[in-house]
Amino acid sequence: MMRSIRKAAVIGSGVMGSAIAAHLANAGIPSLLLDIVPKQLTEEEAAKGLTLEHPAVRSRLAVQAIAKLKKTKPAPLYDDTFAERITPGNLEDHLAQIADVDWVIEVIVENLDAKKELLSKIEAHWKEGTVVSSNTSGISINAMSADCGEAFKRHFLGTHFFNPPRYMKLLEVIPGEHTDPAIVSGMKQFCENRLGKGVVLAKDTPNFIANRIGTYGLLVTLQEMQEKGYRVEEVDAVTGPALGRPRSATFRTLDLVGLDTFVHVANNVYENVSDEAEKAVFAESPVLRGMVDKGWLGEKSGQGFYLKK
Ligand code: NAD
Repeated sequence: MMRSIRKAAVIGSGVMGSAIAAHLANAGIPSLLLDIVPKQLTEEEAAKGLTLEHPAVRSRLAVQAIAKLKKTKPAPLYDDTFAERITPGNLEDHLAQIADVDWVIEVIVENLDAKKELLSKIEAHWKEGTVVSSNTSGISINAMSADCGEAFKRHFLGTHFFNPPRYMKLLEVIPGEHTDPAIVSGMKQFCENRLGKGVVLAKDTPNFIANRIGTYGLLVTLQEMQEKGYRVEEVDAVTGPALGRPRSATFRTLDLVGLDTFVHVANNVYENVSDEAEKAVFAESPVLRGMVDKGWLGEKSGQGFYLKK
């Protein structure tokens, strides 16, 4: 039987990690929120005479992520006390604390090698009974945990939240070939009953279910728009409110997701399918690549298809 989940650790405090920690906090579950140690000082930190070794600098990414969530509109997105249930920190100094949690959620950049490296660090501090999951949009759960021990693999699975995790009911649960069935059913129940999600069990195929279809739709829409000479606003007008999706039209969705993350997610299908017709759709879009190279990552950078006001 799966241990009850009383405390969690969320690793990666970007768009999804910070919001997942906040959703857990709303459900009364405290968590650690950990990110990497910054390699450069901000102008403000330098002006204050801080160094890269200062604890406030070392844990800056997770601290800033919580501050940003507090300002998220429409307010109140979270209950007033959500931030008190999140302990921000950095991986180097605080990863050992995962020995005290019941669930570790990996929410870092969508890259197989980075995720494998992080899982090996997690395993070094992991205690039997703790569930470990990945929020990957579509990278293989089996590939990610291939180098881990058997006991760890029995506790490892995908728990794919959708953006924004506060509102999106869908959550894909993806067992790996070694995941203990008791962990799969325990996590399904927990995510449904405690986190209010509608869980869909998915197979460990490239991009699982929702992102295999969703990414396809977004890429075809982008291609059609270019070929037929439509504007971003026109496409959003017919794929947003008109379809009963208040904000989430095609390009607004891409801005919300993050264009860098979307490119990684699409590439994952391209690299893992052999069908040429499917490959052609999932091949990297020069438009998206150009925007990412310019630093136009969407809402998180202030500019994507739309300029954030
Ligand atoms: P993001 O770019 O906003 O944040 C990633 C965070 O991970 C950053 O804060 C970064 O500093 C940190 N990070 C990078 N490498 C790290 C490492 N080696 N160790 C620890 N932290 C590291 O990305 P995101 O949009 O939050 O996506 C995170 C994961 O969630 C990805 O796997 C993505 O595919 C998945 N996902 C994203 C969305 C979405 O809409 N953005 C939706 C569902 C799932």
